[in-house]
Amino acid sequence: MDKEKLFAGIDIGGTNTALGLISSEGRVLQESSFSTQKYEQSSAFLGRLIDEIEQLLALMPGEFALSGIGAAAPMANFFRGTIESPANLNWGEVAFVKIMQNHFKVKTVITNDGNAAALEEMVFGVAKGMKNFIVLTLGTGLGCGIILNGEIYYGTDGLAGELGHIIVEPGGRDCACGRAGCLETYVSATGICRSASMLMAQKQCASVLHAIPPAVLTAEKIARAADRGDALAGEVFAFTGAVLGPALANLAVIFNPEAIILFGGLAKAGDLLLKPTIDSFRQNSLNIYKREAQVLMADMQDGHSAIRGAAALVNR
Ligand SMILES: [Zn+2]
Repeated sequence: MDKEKLFAGIDIGGTNTALGLISSEGRVLQESSFSTQKYEQSSAFLGRLIDEIEQLLALMPGEFALSGIGAAAPMANFFRGTIESPANLNWGEVAFVKIMQNHFKVKTVITNDGNAAALEEMVFGVAKGMKNFIVLTLGTGLGCGIILNGEIYYGTDGLAGELGHIIVEPGGRDCACGRAGCLETYVSATGICRSASMLMAQKQCASVLHAIPPAVLTAEKIARAADRGDALAGEVFAFTGAVLGPALANLAVIFNPEAIILFGGLAKAGDLLLKPTIDSFRQNSLNIYKREAQVLMADMQDGHSAIRGAAALVNR
């Protein structure tokens, strides 16, 4: 009898890394996570990652075979199998695929988190049946996956879709990429915290956010305050949507997609972010299209979308 096939799915985020063992039907059988940020050297990070995968494999009962490893990371180059100087991590270039293949002796693929999320949405999520759509991953930074004619669009060097670094405000906020005014300095978990600090300094109105020390302020806390009716926290999301809307209108002009899908930790803010984004998208849309692209939230209910999407790179 053939051994059951297992795939490892790894989502390397700027803050945390999540990983899991996934069945060929997309079921998550084992999972774990650890801090990415803690590792200043990529070699120590990869050592930990290999240990984590080995530990998950050791937990599997019965006969099985690890049949592939799929990983998503910021600034990942699909063609070269590398992670290239990610803006939020000080790692330089990481030969990810080579190192993992040397250890596990199975096919290993890496791509940016946006592409993995787009695959997940196409195979399991709200983009089932769509051929042209764009997924934005909203986390510590902002990633993007572009699906054209049912395939991931990689670009010349495998680096297409770094939407977080389109400049939306020339001379605006400093970005970790070394430039200024990039979209992710406004629309990301970190960008939202910067917007909250900006609005708190500009407006002298009462807000529960004033009581939170800047070092421990998170997008999640701002979302919770907004949900409870804090006006300033609500304004932070309105401001974020107003920056994101025109960026989506620009994407629609270039790609004429069926949908633009918001995915990732920040997408859990739900209508807080979706509503002002859709309003601003509509205000800024070019009206030549018979059908305007839908702006949708990914279904993130089970919390496994990112690792399942990464595994889908090698499980198709
Ligand atoms: Zn940038």
